[in-house]
Amino acid sequence: MAILCLRVLTFDGAQTVHEMSVATGIMNVLHSKLSKLASCRLTALQLSLGELSGIDRDSLCFALDTLLADADYNGVEIRFELTPATFKCSVCNWQGRLESFALTCPECAGQDLDIIAGQDVTLEGIEVE
Ligand SMILES: [Zn+2]
Repeated sequence: MAILCLRVLTFDGAQTVHEMSVATGIMNVLHSKLSKLASCRLTALQLSLGELSGIDRDSLCFALDTLLADADYNGVEIRFELTPATFKCSVCNWQGRLESFALTCPECAGQDLDIIAGQDVTLEGIEVE
């Protein structure tokens, strides 16, 4: 068994709102990666799901299951890890999670916060045997 760390593709949840389009994007990457690995059987996918991606985990899982079965990949385990929403203040450079949905910096009360993590769905890696 081998674990391949990919971390090559990030799907922006803001642009691809539908779980099926995200799943299709993941499948495209899988096809191109697996075509370079002769006689390997795909056993698992590791995904990270941003808290702010707007992607529903169960729907994405269902879409992937469907596409995997269509492509004759059977028995593939899909693992999710949640990426928490992380913000950065452009005034004082504070970084962290917000306790509430008020987009205010807890350090300087500035309101110019950028999202630095938690917006995307990322294919972190695949496992083959
Ligand atoms: Zn601040």
